[in-house]
Parts: sequence; C-alpha cells; structure tokens
Amino acid sequence: MNNYTAPTRDMRFVLNELAGLSAVNQLPGLEDATADTVAAVLEEAARFAVEVLAPCNHPGDVAGARFEDARVIPPPGFSETYRAFAEGGWGSLPFEPEYGGQGLPELVAAATNEIWQSANMAFSLCPMLTEGCAVALGIHGSQDLKNIFLPKLVSGEWTGTMNLTEPHAGSDLAEIKTRAAPNGDTYLISGRKIFITWGDHDFTDNIVHMVLARLPDAPAGIKGISLFLVPKYLVNADGSTGRRNDVHPVSIEHKLGIHGSPTCVMSYGDNGGAHGYLVGAEHNGMACMFTMMNHARLSVGVQGLSIAERAYQQARGYAKEREQGKVPGQPGRARIIQHADVRRMLMLMKAGCEAMRALAYVTAASLDYMNRSPEDARHGERFALLTPVVKAWCTELAQEITSLGLQVHGGMGYIEETGAAQHFRDARITSIYEGTNGIQAQDLVGRKVIRDNGKAVRELIGEIGQTTADLSAAEANQAVIKRALSAATEHLAQATDWLLDNYRNDPNAPGSVASNYLMLTGYVCGGWQMARAAMIAAEKTAATSDEFYRGKIITARFYAEHYLPRSAAHFSSIRAGSESIMALGEEQF
Ligand SMILES: Cc1cc2nc3c(=O)[nH]c(=O)nc-3n(C[C@H](O)[C@H](O)[C@H](O)COP(=O)(O)OP(=O)(O)OC[C@H]3O[C@@H](n4cnc5c(N)ncnc54)[C@H](O)[C@@H]3O)c2cc1C
Repeated sequence: MNNYTAPTRDMRFVLNELAGLSAVNQLPGLEDATADTVAAVLEEAARFAVEVLAPCNHPGDVAGARFEDARVIPPPGFSETYRAFAEGGWGSLPFEPEYGGQGLPELVAAATNEIWQSANMAFSLCPMLTEGCAVALGIHGSQDLKNIFLPKLVSGEWTGTMNLTEPHAGSDLAEIKTRAAPNGDTYLISGRKIFITWGDHDFTDNIVHMVLARLPDAPAGIKGISLFLVPKYLVNADGSTGRRNDVHPVSIEHKLGIHGSPTCVMSYGDNGGAHGYLVGAEHNGMACMFTMMNHARLSVGVQGLSIAERAYQQARGYAKEREQGKVPGQPGRARIIQHADVRRMLMLMKAGCEAMRALAYVTAASLDYMNRSPEDARHGERFALLTPVVKAWCTELAQEITSLGLQVHGGMGYIEETGAAQHFRDARITSIYEGTNGIQAQDLVGRKVIRDNGKAVRELIGEIGQTTADLSAAEANQAVIKRALSAATEHLAQATDWLLDNYRNDPNAPGSVASNYLMLTGYVCGGWQMARAAMIAAEKTAATSDEFYRGKIITARFYAEHYLPRSAAHFSSIRAGSESIMALGEEQF
C-alpha cells in the first residue's frame, strides 16, 4: 500500500507564484495569511494527514460504513480521527474569528482541502460539507441562527449536511416535494431525502441538516423552494442539545466507492414533523443553497485533483520498483519507470495534477477577492465562470488519471489489495455529485457565456492571450508552449463565437456542445496556468539550480504537447453542432 505525501513544494509554488497569496493577504481580514504562516499551516496539515487521515483510508474502504439499529456506524477509527480533526481546529480555517474561525483565505482552505481529500476522501467529505453548511449559514442565516449554530459548525463540535436530492428530484430540483408547514417560531418539515452524505454518524452530539423544502403557498418550480436548518437534536436557549428532532436515517446505500462515507436515506416528519428554521427569505432557498453548492463545487473540483494526485503518487512509487523487460542500451532488467510508455502515463498524471492544482487555487483566490472586494464585479464574474470548469474539468481528468494509475500497475492495479483500484472507484462519484458534469456544462454555457453574451469568457481569453504574448519565442520550451497555447486559445475564441452565433437558431445547440465547450475551456485554462508557471520557473532557474523549476518547465511543455492538442478535437465536435446528436429517433437507440 502506497503512503501519501502532501506535495507541499508544488502547493507553495502555486499559492505564492500563481494564485498570488501575497496579494490575497492584503485583502481586509486576511492580513495574517503570510507566506511563512501558510507554509507552516501546510506542513502541519501534511503531517496530520499522513499520520492520522491516511492510515484509516484503505481500512475504511474495506470495512465501510454500516447501518444498524436505525443509526450509522462509521468505519473503525473514523470517530477518533474526526475528534482529532476538530480538536486541531482544521475545520475553522476560512471562517471569521468572531465565530471561532482562523480568518485564513479560501485559497489556503483549498490547499488544506486538497491534502484532506488526497489522504482520505470518504472521511473528508464530512468536514467539507460542514464547511459549505457554515458558509451558507454565515451569509444567509439570521443573527440568532448564526449565534447558536455557527460557532459549533466552525469548531467542528457539530457537523453539517446538505439535503437536496429526492427520488424524483436529482438534477431537477424544481420537483422537490418535501414540505415545510409554519408552526410558530419554527416550521415542521416532512418528506424523504436520498443520497445524503454523512447524514448520520456518531462523531458529534448533533448534526445540522440544511434542507430544501416547499411552503404550503409556494409557487410551483424552483422559485417556490425555501431553505431550512434542521438539527438532529433540538437546541435549548443556552445552546445545549435537547430532545431528538423528528429526522432519522432510514438506510445507507451500497455503492461503487467512498465506502467509508455513509450515503443516507433521510426521513423527515414520521412523527408529526421535524422542527426547522428558515434560512434566508421564504421561497429564496435555491439562491441560499447555491452559496453552499458553489462552495462545494469548488471543493469537489479540488477532490478531483486530490484523488488524481493520490493515484499519481501510488503509480509513481510502483513504477520505480517494479522490474519488467529491458530498455535499449541498458544491461539487466528495467524498472518500468524506464519504459517510455510508462513515462508517458506518469507525465500525463503529473502534468494533469499540476495544471488542476493551479487552476483550482487561482479560482479559490478569485473567491477571496469576490468575498473581500465585492465592489469590483469582475471577481464574482471570474469565480462564477471558473467554478463549473474547476468542478467538471478536474473531475473528468480525475477519471482518466486514476484509470492511468491502474494501468501503470498492470494486473496488480486491478487487484484491490494494491490500493490503486480504490482511488479509481472513489474518483467516479466526483463527476456525478454536486451537479453532474453535464449540468456543470449547461451552467457554463447557459448562465456564464450566453447570458452575458460572452463578456466574461472573452475577458478571460484576453488575459490568456496576454500570457501567450509574454512567452518567449526564442526559448525552446516556451516557444512550444506559446504555439500550443495560442492555437488552443483560438479554438476557445472561435467556439465561443460559434455558440453565440448558433444558440438562437438551434435550441439543441447549447446542450449538444456544452460538455465539449467545458472541457475545451478547462484544457485552455490549465495550459494558461502552466504557461505562467513555466515563465516564472524560467526566471527562477536563472538564479538557482533548484531542480523543481526545471521539472516545472518540462512538465508545462509536456502539457502543451500532450494535453493542449485536445482542444482541436473538442472544437471540431462543437462545430459539428447538434445535427448527428439529435438526428435519430428514440426507437433507434
Ligand atoms: C455517493 C453520493 C453522494 C451524494 N451526496 C449528496 C448529498 O450529500 N446531498 C444531496 O442532496 N445529494 C447528494 N447526492 C445526489 C447527487 O447530487 C445526485 O445524484 C446528482 O445531482 C444527480 O442527480 P440524479 O442522481 O437524480 O441523476 P439525474 O438527474 O436523473 O441525471 C441522470 C443523467 O441525466 C443527465 N441530466 C439530467 N438532467 C439534465 C438536463 N437538464 N440537461 C442535461 N442532462 C441532464 C445528468 O447529467 C445525468 O447524466 C449524492 C449522490 C451520490 C451517489
């Protein structure tokens, strides 16, 4: 079983050089996030992940969560791990000090999130959802609700969940049927939610469920949904927990991966109704939930990076040890890392991870700018544009990279004991939950590109063009990157024009091209960040002989040569439009 090591060197490079930590910490309230402080936080997080989270990852997969006597029993070791996580204050990083938070940037939380998710994805879903819950409550909750619940969520004393999905309402949340009846100061919630991650456990003495439900007079559809906070145990005026609320787990799912994470069916109101508190205004639940979902979408994108990084580390370790065959000009048996085709796979894994990290962290920095410098609308536009890209592009790449991880192991990859198969299985959910990648693509094309007539994406293309112009045509590696990035960016620009020219006359056009458009955007944005990395590394190599920088330049060139050409295929599919996609009758399938 391969051990996890946090890639803190690359993380620090991305934080400091690409995501601009030194500028982020100039934002109001983030002054403490100096490079030294953040480096220390990362080292400590890395140590905690290696010593505490990672050791129960594979055992947690084997044992899985169980459902007995109407309650969830997490895998062995998870409860102790959770207590250590909460005591370490790890869930409080990006929150305001007035609620017990540490006032660090979302950018830093994205980096620590990467570490947690790499070390133990099934476990780390619990703090990840708790964080999203606290963010939504902090923005939309009343002062009373915040005073009672926020410090407990921030400290990790209680955990949080997100209750959207119902059997007939997955992607289509307009169909939600869970009811909320006004009842004095509270609302009585009744209905059934499915697929609720960490809906029950024994980590803490309370769980805070964020639940979407419909009031009796609610308009039909998405505009009639409200958000409610429903605690597992009711909370007394002094903050202590009181009697059990009318919300119960009914069962847990048996699933492909993340076996350590219980995915619960939750029943509300079997005995008259679960007491819930309105969060935000009546009928405005989707807007509130979007705060939580956008946060979680960035986090799930980071999950894609994390699980890919874990698979890469495992494959790299195996490839350095496994002996098989010979290589030209060298006596004796070769280690498989010496074979060019294995190198190709490892380079795809390494370059993919580095590009994802760069794009995800840069997007997290735009969230800090959006939160702390809201007067400049461009930060919010950039975050909105890149969130679906980070979610879907990173998680699609995670499918490919965890699959390559198996391939590098040969037959041993297919054998569970090796551990590579777990990463492949765990990764699969990331492109499904938090809005399927198909839904992310619709969001990108419909809300982020068509709605503003391409303004935000053209600004992005302009910035990428500036980076391309800055690359040196005279230096061999940069010249390769310059050509490839220039061609790929042109594909994105032309794809945007095609979309804006065609969506009106063909209603099937946006849906037909959306996934290709999203992947094209992802590859170009990844190439943009790798190009920036290559230029910075070139400057650094002039002053130091640090091998890290030489590696960065070569990896950026590899990305340009092996990932960026995919833009042509995506562009070609986009230009084909909807015709062959929609031409067959349903009976021909
Ligand atoms: C392990 C796990 C954990 C989960 N955790 C949570 C949780 O904590 N809280 C929670 O509320 N939910 C959770 N979910 C639910 C998850 O978010 C949904 O499964 C997901 O949003 C997809 O909904 P669905 O399963 O109903 O699929 P469907 O909506 O039925 O989608 C099926 C297919 O149709 C496509 N599709 C659907 N509508 C459209 C459209 N309009 N345009 C184009 N394509 C479309 C989808 O992309 C997909 O490919 C979890 C699910 C799983 C499996």
